[in-house]
This record gives sequence, structure tokens and C-alpha cells, in this order.
Amino acid sequence: MLQPQFEKNFDSWRLVARDLIANGTSPNQINWNQDVLSLFSFEAGENNLSASRQKNQKSNLMIAVPPEFIELAKLVSYARDDDRWNLLYRILFRLRFENANLLKISVDADIQKAESLQKSVRHDIHKMHAFVRFKKNIVEGEDIYVAWHRPEHLTVRPGTPFFARRFGDRRWSIFTPDESAHWDLKELTFGPGIQQNEFKATDDWDEVWKTYYKSIFNPARIKIKMMKSEMAPKYWSSMPETSLIQDLIREAPLRLQNMIENQNRAAVVDPHLTLPELKIAAQSCTACPLYAQATQSVFGVGPHDAEIMIIGEQPGDQEDLAGTPFAGPAGAVLDEAFANAGIDRNRIYLTNAVKHFKWTQRGKLRMHQKPTGGEMHACKPWLEAEIAKVKPKIIIALGATAGTAIIGKLPKIGDERGKIITSLKIAPQVILSWHPAAILRASDEAESQLRRKQLADDLRLAIQSVSSFPV
Ligand code: SF4
Repeated sequence: MLQPQFEKNFDSWRLVARDLIANGTSPNQINWNQDVLSLFSFEAGENNLSASRQKNQKSNLMIAVPPEFIELAKLVSYARDDDRWNLLYRILFRLRFENANLLKISVDADIQKAESLQKSVRHDIHKMHAFVRFKKNIVEGEDIYVAWHRPEHLTVRPGTPFFARRFGDRRWSIFTPDESAHWDLKELTFGPGIQQNEFKATDDWDEVWKTYYKSIFNPARIKIKMMKSEMAPKYWSSMPETSLIQDLIREAPLRLQNMIENQNRAAVVDPHLTLPELKIAAQSCTACPLYAQATQSVFGVGPHDAEIMIIGEQPGDQEDLAGTPFAGPAGAVLDEAFANAGIDRNRIYLTNAVKHFKWTQRGKLRMHQKPTGGEMHACKPWLEAEIAKVKPKIIIALGATAGTAIIGKLPKIGDERGKIITSLKIAPQVILSWHPAAILRASDEAESQLRRKQLADDLRLAIQSVSSFPV
């Protein structure tokens, strides 16, 4: 019986498996599951294997397999299943010598097992992305964010690049019992794992998660069974917000009643908060009913001392999910206008007049709904606070809702756009222009092109007015 030496990862397994397949070695002759690597592990077939490897290297032999197999095998290789390497080799061998279309036979026992493991690994990666909670530690004066998580499978390597993309601007480490991942602002590296009782990190980071969770908790849509299936109790020990669930469920009827009663309130905003603090505080805002069905409040982004602030109406479907303004199709139109006007988006502060997404369900789609005057009124303190902090030299209000919030009356964008208004207290200069969504909704291509050009012209005018504005 062959006991191949390989590191327990897909790339290493593939190298060895390729040699064995080239040699025609049957799955019955191999045991991939030895725990301890032995120098003599190829006793039965070492010579044949080495000869085969040399021959393969000389002829650069490639074993052709469907790309779907590589994808399947990669995910299965992360499964916590001792038989996974045998299973993958069996499928590879059968693909090569039995049936090149084996992957299409969904009733085949090997394929069923592999697909089930693949699905389970994918699910586990998703759970990691959803349930990892960082705590801030200060190590030698530097902020390090650390988290402990217990994945079901060996998913640290496929699961953690997501965090490098999402939290690339801070140092973090994620520990699991199997392995740990570390991001140093440049590179993702991996190290040994630790048990939960060895993991020590304390600060107020739990409170941030609790505040966030409380803000997204919707008393009108409690589905306890779904909450339990999505947030399996085995993850709860590392999730600070789970301590809130019972209280939130008990308070739900009262919160629902408050939601209805609070329809005409305006948000109360502490003027001493910084922009990042405002952003966190807005997550807990319940001043109008819109928070109840949105995923999160979407606050402004951009330099805190930007000379130009662009204000849209409200987040759309994609912005609601991404948590950032102008991230969807309207954002793409705005980007095109930035490019045409020669403007770097990163120099602009982008926000909306209303911070939560207002929508109505149509089939599977969440369709945008215009905010009411009461909702705009309720949300205006957040916008005013942003303007007070950023102090832009010019505001570009896109569309009727933003225009109303800034000039105090409903404007006719077609007539009033493209003119610099200097008579308002809210900012030294204001320009109205088309909202990108109005460009997407234009009645015909000619109208769409005209509005695109006018939006770019208005952005250009704003830039020119800022550069001539006394500093
Ligand atoms: S839309 Fe504005 S006022 Fe209404 S809940 Fe959201 S942040 Fe508060």
C-alpha cells in the first residue's frame, strides 16, 4: 500500500496525485490518510513513483481534467473529513480512466459526497465572514484587532482573504483551534491555532458590535427560527451581540409601537460628535420608520475636509447592502461624470439627504421609494451635522430630494441646474444638478446623453468655482 508524502493542502496533493495518475496507480493501492509522514512511506512503490515523476517532468505531462474538478477539489480539500484525499483521488482516477463526464453524474456516490462537502465548506466560509467579531488590542502603541472563531471545516485559508480586502487598512489576526491568519497591512500570513480559553482580548469592541446589532435588529420582522439557523448557537460564545437577543425579542412590541409613533420626529444629533462618531450614532437612529426595513444607515464617505460635497437622495439597494453611498448603477453614472469632468472621486465627500434605504418589495426586487417630506425632515439633522463638520466650499445637490433639503423648496432641476447659488446659509456655494438615477430613467437615449453631459458640466463648474474661491 502506498502512503504518499504530501503536505495536507490541495497544491501538494495535486502534485503527488498527478504522478500517481500518470503511473496508472489504482486508488485501492493508496492510503492518503496516514497521520505521520514517514521517510519510508513509499516502500511499496517509491521506485515506480520516482521514475514516473522524472518521466513526467521531462515530458512536462499534464493530466487533463475538467476545470470544475479543480474548483470542486480545492473546496473539498478544506473539508474536515479524513477521507477527503482518498475521495478526490478516486474521482480523479475515475475521470481519467473510467468516465470523463463523471462530474455530471449527480447520483454517483463519490460525486454526491464531494458536492456535499463542497457545499458545507462554502457554507462554513460564509459563516466565518458573518460571525467573526474583532476586539481591539493595543500592542506597543499600535491598534491590533483580534478575533477567535471556531470554523466547522479547515477554512482559515479560503475564508480570511475576505477580511484582508474588507479591513485592509488595519492590522488584525483571526485565531481558530486549527490555524491563525494575520494581516500586517501588506501581507496575509498563517500560523498555529489556539484554543478559545487561550484567547484573551478585552475592550469596548463588544459594545460597538452590540450597538450595530441593536441598530439593525428589526422588531417588525422577528423570525426566531431563522435567527437560530443563521446564527447557530455554537457561534454565540464569540458573538457579543447574542447577549442582546432575548431582551430585543421581549422589547419588540414596544419598539414596534414606538416606530409608528415616532413618524414625525427629527433625529437628535449631538453636535460634539466627530464624523466617525456620527456615522456610528446614525446606525442607532430611529427618528423615522425607515430604519426598520433597511439593512443599515449609509453615512457619507470622503475626506473630512473636502472642498466639494455631493448630496444624493438616499441609498439604493446596493448601497444599503454595501453601506456606502453611490455604490450601485447610479454610482457608475456618477463615476463616468467624474471621469468626463476630470475629477478624482476620492477628493469629494459623498453623502445622501436621507440615510436609510426606503423600498417596497416587488417580486424578488426591492424597489426604491421616494422618501416623504417627514422622513427628509427627520433625517436633516444628520446631513446638517455632516455639512457642519466637513465645511465644504461648495455643495452639489443631485436631484429634487437633495435640492429640497439644501435650498428649502422643491426645485425644477432642468431649469435650475448649472447655476451657482451663493445666497444660502448652509454653504457658501450650492449647485443643483441631475441625480444619476434621473439619467438612468431618462425617456430616451438623447435625453440621457444630454443629462450626462450636463452633470459633467456642473461638476466641472463646481471645481472651477472652488479653485477661484478665496481660501
Ligand atoms: S432615515 Fe434618517 S432619520 Fe430616518 S431613521 Fe434613518 S437616519 Fe434616522
